[in-house]
Amino acid sequence: MSPDLDAAMGRALELAAAAEGWGDTPIGAVVLGPDGTVLAEAANEREKRSDPTAHAEVRALRAAAQAHGDGWRLSGCTLVVTLEPCTMCAGASVLSRVDHIVFGAEDPKAGAAGSLWDVVRDRRLNHRPQVTGGVRAEECGALLRAFFRRQRGL
Ligand SMILES: [Zn+2]
Repeated sequence: MSPDLDAAMGRALELAAAAEGWGDTPIGAVVLGPDGTVLAEAANEREKRSDPTAHAEVRALRAAAQAHGDGWRLSGCTLVVTLEPCTMCAGASVLSRVDHIVFGAEDPKAGAAGSLWDVVRDRRLNHRPQVTGGVRAEECGALLRAFFRRQRGL
């Protein structure tokens, strides 16, 4: 694994941990530009904003497009996220034209980048980002498991 991706996942983990502070499921995302610099970062703010679409990936992709300077296109960019994207976020990644999706923990219940669905590598699409799963997966999964344990009051 490249040190850049490892470090970006480390930052995504920090963002994820922060989301817990305002009661959101701890998921964080970072978008890297073609040169590997951080274009944008975001955490899940669904509860905070009362917005069903305020997932970390969507927020990071929106902010990255503003920073990148090629309109809405994120060609050459990499989305790094602590949890496998859901259908919405997988779809947003395809539409943004990111080259690479990197995620930490798999989401067997809702993942759309290879677990439950594979929205991003559907051969019927003409843009299919590369996918790398399992980056720092243990840390990403542990953060989520601890959050849900606390939610259940265990
Ligand atoms: Zn999502």
